[in-house]
Amino acid sequence: MRTADVVIVGGGCMGAATAYYLTRHGAGHVVLIERDAQLGTGSTGRNAGGVRHQFSDAANIALSRESIALFARFEDEIGSPIDFWQDGYLFLLASEGSELAFAEAVALQRRLGLDVRWLTAADAAKMTPGLDVAGVRAATFCPADGIADPNGVTMGFVRAAQHGGTLTVLRECEVTGIEVSAGRVAGVTTTQGPIAARVVVNAAGPWAGQVAAMAGVALPVVPERRHIFIAQPAPGASWDDAAYAGRTPASRLMVIDFDTTFYFHREGAGLLFGMGDKSERPGFDTTVRWDFLPEVTETAVTRLPALADASVTHAWAGLYEMTPDHNPVIGGLGVDGLFAIAGFSGHGFQHAPAAGRILADVIVGRDPGLDLTPFAFARFAGGGARGEHHVV
Ligand SMILES: Cc1cc2nc3c(=O)[nH]c(=O)nc-3n(C[C@H](O)[C@H](O)[C@H](O)COP(=O)(O)OP(=O)(O)OC[C@H]3O[C@@H](n4cnc5c(N)ncnc54)[C@H](O)[C@@H]3O)c2cc1C
Repeated sequence: MRTADVVIVGGGCMGAATAYYLTRHGAGHVVLIERDAQLGTGSTGRNAGGVRHQFSDAANIALSRESIALFARFEDEIGSPIDFWQDGYLFLLASEGSELAFAEAVALQRRLGLDVRWLTAADAAKMTPGLDVAGVRAATFCPADGIADPNGVTMGFVRAAQHGGTLTVLRECEVTGIEVSAGRVAGVTTTQGPIAARVVVNAAGPWAGQVAAMAGVALPVVPERRHIFIAQPAPGASWDDAAYAGRTPASRLMVIDFDTTFYFHREGAGLLFGMGDKSERPGFDTTVRWDFLPEVTETAVTRLPALADASVTHAWAGLYEMTPDHNPVIGGLGVDGLFAIAGFSGHGFQHAPAAGRILADVIVGRDPGLDLTPFAFARFAGGGARGEHHVV
């Protein structure tokens, strides 16, 4: 039987970040297990790459600050490029409820020392070529928010962790069971045979509920499909052409119409956009529902009329990993040796560096330097957790 000090289930950004910090903390032999042929093909490979400080929960703001600071020095420290841009996030607020919630959050963000600006609709229009702000009551902007490449981050962490020689990566290997003996984790069974380990980390993203159930734990992480569409201008044209000047932002600014959840940003030669579907029910299906595109486009052209001339060249769907209060679990799952880093509710990519560092600290018995109550598994039993409001 193979043995490991730590087994990590799931090779997305969370598994990768945890592996990196565990190897740096001298946690022994770490085995990262991914059932797909490649790492980062779950939610991590399907996300919009957005990274922001603008959260409503102070605990999430702390994760953002640490993670975004690392993204800024990722290439120097971790050794891989991640196509990181800090062109800001602009939230458009078109209802009284959103305006009130964001006003409260901006006050908190400023108390915590962040540069977050409260804008009028006219200010928002001025800074965003082509944006139609009809019905917008106010907007918020943080210039230090931005976008980064999820694959670069994931593979960067794994490559850096492999340098130390204490990480083994198993691909095309599915974890089929978690062995628990006398109330503590003893190992996992996999399609490539059993592995004995006294620590198992559940980093299975939208599948984290299924993996926790293997140890008899009810972890409330629910998968929910979300679409992303890529639009190109007229054939042969580019968004940078003079014809589009003034009709779309030239920067990679992320714009989010909070009340409809429609968002967009420039992505390479294209324009990436998406929107939540209120009719979507929990499930693992990631088939693209092209019949949803007209509904998205109807909203999209009201905010960015230039999209009316564009063609959608491709689309994909991925899974959000929702918890009841939209905050993740980072820490123990109530069985000795069983940990989770899961349930990030659609904003996990940007928190992977801090979350991975924190969980590695917890596992090796170091002080993570942060109150982990908002991320504790036990909060679901008590109810009443405030959680995160700014979920798109
Ligand atoms: C459309 C969309 C847009 C998003 N936009 C953003 C954004 O702009 N910014 C942001 O921060 N976040 C965003 N997110 C959320 C972000 O993608 C996720 O929070 C994050 O990727 C979660 O990473 P993960 O490693 O936990 O999960 P995953 O990347 O899904 O990794 C889990 C892995 O576990 C593997 N696995 C599962 N079960 C097993 C098993 N039994 N054995 C072996 N392997 C297993 C899976 O194959 C998978 O590769 C978005 C998500 C979607 C779907």
